[in-house]
This record gives sequence, structure tokens and C-alpha cells, in this order.
Amino acid sequence: MVRSALITGLTGQDGSYLAELLLEKDYKVFGLVRRSSTSNLSRISHLADKVKIVSGDLLDQCSLMDVISECQPDEIYNLASQSYVPLSWTQPSLTAEYTALGVSRLLDSIRRCQPAAKFYQASSSEVFGQPDESPQTEKTAFRPRNPYGVAKAYAHWMTVNYRQHYNLYACCGITYTHESPRRGAEFVFRKITRGAAMIKLGMANELKLGNLDARRDWCHARDAVYAMWLMLQQGRPDDYIIASGATHSVQELVDCAFNYVGLNWRDYVSVDPAFYRPDEPVQLVGSIEKINQELHWKPAYPFERLVSSMVDYDLKDLTDNRL
Ligand code: NAP
Repeated sequence: MVRSALITGLTGQDGSYLAELLLEKDYKVFGLVRRSSTSNLSRISHLADKVKIVSGDLLDQCSLMDVISECQPDEIYNLASQSYVPLSWTQPSLTAEYTALGVSRLLDSIRRCQPAAKFYQASSSEVFGQPDESPQTEKTAFRPRNPYGVAKAYAHWMTVNYRQHYNLYACCGITYTHESPRRGAEFVFRKITRGAAMIKLGMANELKLGNLDARRDWCHARDAVYAMWLMLQQGRPDDYIIASGATHSVQELVDCAFNYVGLNWRDYVSVDPAFYRPDEPVQLVGSIEKINQELHWKPAYPFERLVSSMVDYDLKDLTDNRL
């Protein structure tokens, strides 16, 4: 029997990779897309004839109920969210509407329209905020420190509560930062790979960054979406950390990207206090012990390959789109 899945956030980084993975596994894939005045399908243009796009919005409960009733998916992956932390400070209410209440609407729509569906919620390491231990595990206390993290914590606990109260197969993947050539340009990893590519091509001569000592737990989005899929293939629902389990500093990332294009980063990178964020007193890094032991998952893409694949993409993209 053909399995079917509904992905919210299809047009985002993770949605596009998850759609590819599910299509490879012969799923019938539905993607929830909200209306926009110009096309936002660039990340999934290569899948346009393979995915069925359905119109809906996390702000609108009726649209979610209609879509779920119409598609009757076996699996539902909620990847849609206002996903940019700095914006959550300038638009905290909107962030709560999308990222927190949107999940309530979705969970309640599933409960009413398709309670047998398996549900994945995109939780985030931002729920830990300033954690009291490192590495963090599934048992580490949530202490979010920005409106995005607060909204994700609400969504996380609503998912757990719907699992316990309504017996839904609902689980949360607490993902740490994950990247790819499809990552939005506002995120620091992409800013660096794009910056190195622009300087290499003579299109820029400087890259301004914040704290070079800041350390992050980065993995590839392809690894992350595979873990999401695995979580819905189990006998019982549970929550898992999805991370690389290791950290790299921003400086290591800069070094790797500039080295790859044959440049010395010290000649081009300057530290701008406007971008400066102090490093965490307790490091944000995920323990992958549980997901490794129970689901036999671990990331497949080494850090260096992630960097080089993004620089390669940026070099090609900038060259192709040069006037
Ligand atoms: P992304 O590229 O920013 O994509 C977000 C998606 O959500 C887009 O498809 C966007 O649609 C959609 N969306 C936003 N508001 C919506 C609404 N009201 N109704 C319907 N769709 C809406 O994010 P991502 O990097 O793929 O991340 C996927 C999920 O993982 C997000 O929930 C994010 O918060 C979470 N997460 C990501 C990371 C990471 O490092 N990438 C880490 C931890 C957690 P439009 O195209 O219309 O804007």
C-alpha cells in the first residue's frame, strides 16, 4: 500500500529535503503551502510535478482541518514556523501565532480529522536557552531565552500533552542547527560560505562577522530529515535530540570555507560589534546517545563536506546569476 505524508513548511529548507526523501521511499507527498503574491517554490521547483501542493496556513484552523480531511495522510511533519530567532524579538506575537499556537491548531485538527496519523513536531535546541548542563539530553530542563524558544517550548509540550492525553502518535525532534545549500541567507553559516564565495569571485572584499569564538552544533539538513522520518517508523512515539553531538567555532567554519577557496580568512574577515553575541557560558551541544542507541541514527555528513558543498553551491549560483 502506498504511504502518504503531509509536510507543512514544504517550501523551507527542511521541507524540500524531506519531500525528496519521502518521494525516494515512494510516498505520496502533500505539501502545505500558504499563499504569497510571488512564487516561493524555488527550493522545490525540481519536485513540482511529484508533490501535491495544498493550500493552507498555520494561522487558519479551518484550512488545516480541510487539508487533513482531504489528504488523509499517514504521517504529518510540521516543519512550518517563523524560524528566525532575531525576528522573534521584533515580531513576538506573530512568532507565537505561527510557532506556538499554529501547532495547537494542527494537533487539534489531527485529533479531530485523522487521529491515526503519526505526527512529527520540529522542536528546537532553542528550548534549552541557557542550559544547566552540557551536552543537553532529552531530560535537560527547558529555559528558553527568546520568544522563538518560548514558542517552541509551548509547541513541544503541547505535542507531548496530545500524545499523553489523546494517545496520538506524536513526537518532537529537538533539532540543533542544521544547514545546506538551501539554507536562508540570513543564517551565519550561509553568510560565511556565501561571503567566501563572493570574495573569491571578486564580488566583495570584506566579510563582517560577530563573535568568532562562538561554538555551535551543526549538521546537514539531509541528516536531520532522515532522523525525522525514522522517528515516525517506530512502534511507539518518543522525543529525540537530533544533533551532530560536536561543536565547531565560527572561526573554524570561516577557516574551512576560506581555505576551500584558497584564501586566508585573516585578510578579509573583520569583527563587527553589531553582530556580536557573547558565547554561551554552558555550551549548546546535543547528546545523540538516545537516538543513536534506539534508532541507530547518527549524522552521515562530516562538517568539512557540509562547508565545501555550500561553498560550491554559492560559487556556482553567483557565477550563473552574474550579469
Ligand atoms: P525555513 O527554511 O525557515 O522554513 C519555514 C517554513 O515554514 C517555510 O516553508 C514557510 O513558508 C513556512 N511557514 C511559515 N509560516 C507559516 C504559516 N503561517 N503557515 C504555513 N507555513 C508557514 O525553516 P527550516 O530551516 O526548514 O526549519 C524547519 C523547522 O525546523 C522550523 O520549524 C524551524 O523552526 C525548525 N528548526 C530549524 C533548525 C535549523 O537549523 N534549520 C533548527 C532547529 C529547529 P514560506 O515559504 O511561505 O515562508
